[in-house]
Amino acid sequence: MSAKLYDAHCHYHHSPVVEQWDTVGAIAIDCGLTHAIINGTEPSDWNATIAWAKQHPFAIPAVGLHPWYLGGVQPGFQYILSDLLDSGQVMLGEIGLDRCRPKAELEQQDRLFIEQLKLANEKDVVTTIHCVRAVGRLYEFFHDFSPPTAGFLLHAYSGSTELILSFASQNAYFSCSANTLSRPKANELIRAIPIDRLLIETDAPYMAPPEFNRLYVIQEKVDDRAANHPANLKRGYELAAEHLQIPLPELIQIVEENFLRLFGPYLPQSQ
Ligand SMILES: [Zn+2]
Repeated sequence: MSAKLYDAHCHYHHSPVVEQWDTVGAIAIDCGLTHAIINGTEPSDWNATIAWAKQHPFAIPAVGLHPWYLGGVQPGFQYILSDLLDSGQVMLGEIGLDRCRPKAELEQQDRLFIEQLKLANEKDVVTTIHCVRAVGRLYEFFHDFSPPTAGFLLHAYSGSTELILSFASQNAYFSCSANTLSRPKANELIRAIPIDRLLIETDAPYMAPPEFNRLYVIQEKVDDRAANHPANLKRGYELAAEHLQIPLPELIQIVEENFLRLFGPYLPQSQ
């Protein structure tokens, strides 16, 4: 039996070949995939996310307003989101801040992020945050509004290493992928993350790693790129172990403990 691997952040249900999940998923599960947090990104995706997770017991759902998909948000979205979070089986995510988006969107982005931050604490739910070129802004918001006290994941963290310990003291976890761990400053970044706050993700079907020759790739494209295969999770673990210079089995054990500490309350009862 292979090692137990955990995908802290993905959107498997967005896969261009999701109808072939029996094949795609079997490869990932064969590589050790044990549990995955799948994130819904906009209201039209929320019920589909939860339904997909129900059909695939390894998947744990999160729903939220992603900063790329705020265009269709209707007033009253927070009541729908609030009802979904009340089940106790659903987390908040993916929400966030992204300063690469057009300037005209940024005010709405801030406002909806703060509304969701308040909801995270009202419902006491673990929250997944996308933060691109906005860690300074996030740091400021966490001064004025409480970070999610149940804990939060800064997925694919790419901000300054100086702020990592400050976020960690506010109950942050950080997830890295085969994609982010292939970037030039990856070594410095992963070494700045406290080891008990480190998680591994794929963000599949997005963010495919660059080493297509060695890794699983779904040929259908997402956003003009080859789609990322969930089995690349294993490559994320391997790269993390290489950067940290610790044996892979030791890293696998640490990440399992971290994943269960943060996401354990949302796992199906039988786990
Ligand atoms: Zn994502």
